[in-house]
Amino acid sequence: MADTPFTPPDWLRQGFDHIWLPYTQMQDAALPAPIARTEGCRLIMADGRELVDGVASWWTAAHGYNHPHIRQAVQQQLETMPHVMFGGLAHEPAYRLATRLAALTPGDLTRVFFSESGSVSVEIAMKMAVQYWINKGERGHSRFVSFTGGYHGDTFATMSVCDPEEGMHSLFAGLLAEQILTDLPTSEAARQAFDDLLAARKGDIAAVVTEPLVQGAGGMLFHSAETLRFIRETCDRHGVLLIVDEIFTGFGRTGSLFACDQAGIVPDIMTLSKALTGGTLPLAATIARQHVFDAFLSDSASTALMHGPTYMGNAMGCAAANAALDLFEQDPPGPRADRIATQLVAELEPARHLPGVRDVRVLGAIGVIELDPHSDHDWMKAEFIRRGVWVRPYNYIIYTTPPLVISPEELSTLTTAMVDVVRLWGGKTQQEG
Ligand SMILES: *Cc1c(COP(=O)(O)O)cnc(C)c1O
Repeated sequence: MADTPFTPPDWLRQGFDHIWLPYTQMQDAALPAPIARTEGCRLIMADGRELVDGVASWWTAAHGYNHPHIRQAVQQQLETMPHVMFGGLAHEPAYRLATRLAALTPGDLTRVFFSESGSVSVEIAMKMAVQYWINKGERGHSRFVSFTGGYHGDTFATMSVCDPEEGMHSLFAGLLAEQILTDLPTSEAARQAFDDLLAARKGDIAAVVTEPLVQGAGGMLFHSAETLRFIRETCDRHGVLLIVDEIFTGFGRTGSLFACDQAGIVPDIMTLSKALTGGTLPLAATIARQHVFDAFLSDSASTALMHGPTYMGNAMGCAAANAALDLFEQDPPGPRADRIATQLVAELEPARHLPGVRDVRVLGAIGVIELDPHSDHDWMKAEFIRRGVWVRPYNYIIYTTPPLVISPEELSTLTTAMVDVVRLWGGKTQQEG
């Protein structure tokens, strides 16, 4: 275990015997960094030190932390009405948000179903797709096609559309629905294979599921708008539904409001979460096109969508999301992501020729340094904290997905630390090797 670059407060030492951390081997888990408060693009540690946040809290805090406009909206909603059930009752924040999302998302994506987490919104999208075919009287469409490197959540149905390697979901293989996994159609051979697959299996496929332009949790792997367009066209050609998971890419991360906008495509179902509330409250949305929604209309209750999370359309979450959308309206995220991209390219490029570096890549407000395989994550994390930044090494990449409002100075602090730590690590690895 790396030496800890901070003195743990009492609550951390005591609570550490009772907490179970995400994606962590607890036997030798390093203490997480104790954070007392947040401000702008900074995390303030319990000992008062400040870290420039390179991750935006798993890609959620697009507007930075404690933004006064979002804070005020949530505070006001808390005082008026924190939450009421969505079955039989209605409230303005959710209905206004649905109207706005329908207007912002591409094409006739016009029906919004709310839930409280990204994984659940994908589960709902999958359920919609299966029931769509049942409602149309076309039996047997129960399988999903997804792509290597993809990630769509940690619940059981979503595990069955993730890359089994990335999510360690292979442990549960026997319990999951049959997985139809294929490579993204980025080459001529892969395009042919994808086309053949849909031709052969279209009778039992409910939908294709993909992340658009970036496979985030799979390692920040980029593909072109052309590839995304090919996926849409191939689904159309074979009459297969397309679910596009914009949970990571939505709200400006790739340089347009939605990644789909860059390809000019309209998925049949889209999922949104992460930056939806600007990193304040858990909220997700599954948005369907008119023809998908229409398949649920009939004189019988049996064709209705039988789903309804307890905290569905949480009023504070919707108030936060409406406020976050106000901010995007005032200051469109695209140009911000483009400015960040230009700076990331200039400042990460020097890492390309350092020892142990395999690739440097940038798309929108996503900057990645990919390294040779290693197990120095804890060491790197400690080095980053010493340099006053929060960067979380992941698999073999070091990446930043900063808040879109990050200043050029703060961004330089991040990129300088990233290049420095990679240089130090490369030197250390060479010596050890
Ligand atoms: C984070 C993520 C999810 C899962 O969202 P949770 O809120 O963690 O359940 C699904 N799909 C993509 C693309 C994501 O990035």
